[in-house]
This record gives sequence, structure tokens and C-alpha cells, in this order.
Amino acid sequence: MSRRIIPVTDVSAIPDFSAGSSAMPVTPRGLLTDRLSRELRDLRISVTDRCNFRCVYCMPREVFDKNHEFLPHSALLSFEEIERLARLFVAHGVEKIRLTGGEPLLRKNIEFLIERLALLRTPEGRPLDITLTTNGSILARKARSLKDAGLSRVTVSLDALDDALFRRMNDADFAVADVLEGIEAAHAVGLAPLKVNMVVKRGTNDAEIVPMARHFKGSGTVLRFIEYMDVGASNGWNMSEVLPSADVVARIAEHFPLRPLEAHNHAETAQRWGYQDGSGEIGVISSVTRAFCGSCTRARLSTEGKLYLCLFATSGHDLRALIRSGASEATIATAIARIWEGRADRYSELRGSNALPAADPDAPRVEMSYIGG
Ligand code: SAM
Ligand code: SF4
Ligand code: SF4
Repeated sequence: MSRRIIPVTDVSAIPDFSAGSSAMPVTPRGLLTDRLSRELRDLRISVTDRCNFRCVYCMPREVFDKNHEFLPHSALLSFEEIERLARLFVAHGVEKIRLTGGEPLLRKNIEFLIERLALLRTPEGRPLDITLTTNGSILARKARSLKDAGLSRVTVSLDALDDALFRRMNDADFAVADVLEGIEAAHAVGLAPLKVNMVVKRGTNDAEIVPMARHFKGSGTVLRFIEYMDVGASNGWNMSEVLPSADVVARIAEHFPLRPLEAHNHAETAQRWGYQDGSGEIGVISSVTRAFCGSCTRARLSTEGKLYLCLFATSGHDLRALIRSGASEATIATAIARIWEGRADRYSELRGSNALPAADPDAPRVEMSYIGG
């Protein structure tokens, strides 16, 4: 597989704001913009690099086998450290936090972290939108405690309704019924509006598009189809396996007429389509065929506390080292500001226009399971 990589700032480039440095500290004022005028509004936090699934497009078993070394517990950001960083990101303008992974529900006592994050307020005094993306396998057991902890919503990944196919895709023998039960439980406790994400791999699960649409139509759950992406370096991605979102919409429209809907906001990644009979909507996320870098307001905090500015980055900025060095709030806030202000990443747009610089074979891209989707 050929890997195409854009260079991003190296971890060593965390600005020096220690005493004596001439750089001016930045006081958070709820608004940061990067070099392409994109605001910092969303933070995705990966809380674990472990997962009980081995989805073929994310953690293929050949790579993530029993010899794969996951991060030791001491390498993970603690809940205190995550909260401390999240507070500073919120002071800089973040309004939405998504917990992800790996499988975030595998992080022990994740509810305690949610409780802490739910207490944060934007500079205008508003609570945050706190969401979580999960494979749903243990959601039925956790839905009530997640809701009680202050989680606003949940997104569940589900790639097929056909049980045999689903088991092949998660490659860990989990049944569709477990995930559907999790979705029901999330509904029942009010973790809504609920979204279901389906990654579409041409030739693998594209025959499931219409059955999935039929199943969730009229249920209040918004089904979103995600183009299979060339993220990471282990899934053997090939363009021929990408089914463009336009084809997904066309296939559904053959059975259930659709009409385009307005985006909820400028930064929305999904294009919305409504069923003409008024029974809800679907979304398509065209990460490959219709890049949305121009409105990308997302920062990503990896499991071990590195700040990534793009899903396709080759390196991140080591905020954990900064925290553990005893840096003050002002120093960390200034570092976050300088890093975001230097951001110019727009991998998908460059890929779309065939303008990616030559790949550096020594700079492997980070895996989705480490950086969070
Ligand atoms: N384990 C959780 C889950 O599966 O929902 C959260 C982490 S997972 C990395 C987040 C999302 O990324 C999931 O919806 C998953 O389907 C999606 N994803 C993973 N690899 C992908 C790829 N190569 N292309 C598109 N989406 C991908
Ligand atoms: Fe695990 Fe989610 Fe990746 Fe599947 S997509 S292997 S559930 S992290
Ligand atoms: Fe954002 Fe990078 Fe994805 Fe573009 S490629 S939308 S900059 S994460």
C-alpha cells in the first residue's frame, strides 16, 4: 500500500513559554483561529487505545494481535489531567467534547470523567455538549450511568444488520443484537438525538446500505454513512473500496425518496438528507470525495496526551509532557493557543486535488484507534 503523508509540526515544537522566554503569554478569550481562519470549537479525546473489536478497517487483527503493545496505564492521561486540559480548551472556545478511542466504554470509570467534564462551562456560562462514540457492545449496561453522569448524546457505530457479516467485520464475534440492545437502552434513557455511524466499504458491506436505512427510518435515530478513509497505516486502504456518498444517497433514494436538508451549522461534517415522507433523515460523511477541511474546527487529544491538529497527522504536540513538567495554567494555555494559531492542516482537500507533498516513509500516520475517530 502506498502511504501519502503531509508533514505537520513535530512534538519538539511545543513553544517555550517558561520563565525568561520572550514570547508573550496568551490569555484565553474564547476564540482562537488557525492560519486558515478556522476556529477551535471541538475537542475529541481518546481515552484508551484498547478495543474489544478488531474492525477490519481500523484495527486489523493481523496488526493488532496478541503481540501488539498497547499503552501502559501510566502513559494514559489521568482523568485529572484530561479535565485540566479540557478546561483550558474550553476557555479557548471549545464547545463540544467527544470521548472516543479505542473503545471509550472500556476505560474504567469513564463516568467519573464525564461527571467532571459536565461541570465545565463556556466563557459565556453555557454547559458543553458532551458526546461519546462507541461500538455499542456494552452500551446496554452503561447507558443509564452515562446519562446520569451528564453525557448529552451518544453515537453508535454499526456497519451491518446481517449478523454473520457484522461478526466478520468486527472480527471479534460480537453480535448485532448486542449493539441494537445498546441503541435501545440509549434511547430509553434519553441519550438523544442518537446517531448511528456506518462505515461503507465497497464490496464488503455496501449491500447493507438499504437494509440499514430501512431499519432506522422513522426510529428517531439518524443513520450516517461514512466513506471508508485512508486513515492510519495498517488497514491496507484502497480507493476502489470507497463507495462515494453520492452513490449511497442514490441507492437509498431508489427505495425511499430523499431531499437535501440545510446544514445545522457551518462546521457540520455530514450532509443531511430528509425522507420525503417526513420519517426522519440520514447523513453522509464524504471524507474522501468531498473534503470539508475548510470548516474543520476539531482538535484531537490522543490517549497519551498528544495534541493532533488533523486526523491524518504524523505527529502531535506533547501536552502530557508539559503538564507533567509542572507547567502553569498560563503556560499550557499559551502553548495550546500557539499550536492552534500555527495550524494549516487540510489533508483531505490536498488529497482531493492531488496536491499532497511526497510521503515521508519514516513518518507513519497515527492509527484511528490511538487518535480517536
Ligand atoms: N470504538 C468506537 C467506535 O467504533 O465507535 C470509537 C472509536 S472509532 C475509531 C470512531 C469511528 O471511526 C467509528 O465510527 C469507526 O467506524 C470510524 N472509523 C474507524 N476507521 C475508519 C476508517 N478507516 N474510515 C472511516 N471511518 C473509520
Ligand atoms: Fe474498535 Fe471502534 Fe476501531 Fe472498531 S472502529 S476497531 S470498535 S476503535
Ligand atoms: Fe480536518 Fe484533517 Fe479531516 Fe481536513 S483532513 S477535515 S483538516 S481532520
